Amino acid sequence: MARKAVRVLVPTACAVCKNRNYWLEKNVKTHPGRLELKKYCPYCRKTTEHREVK
Ligand SMILES: [Zn+2]
Repeated sequence: MARKAVRVLVPTACAVCKNRNYWLEKNVKTHPGRLELKKYCPYCRKTTEHREVK
């Protein structure tokens, strides 16, 4: 259990309504920074920017 986790599950929230719509698995080695991607938000009913939240 001492192994460092390379793949972690992070919540991403809609930048418009702040709802956490998706949980994404990210590779820390390839994405050391924040995740930002366009996803469909069911609350805004359109595709919006989703950002990693902690
Ligand atoms: Zn939204």
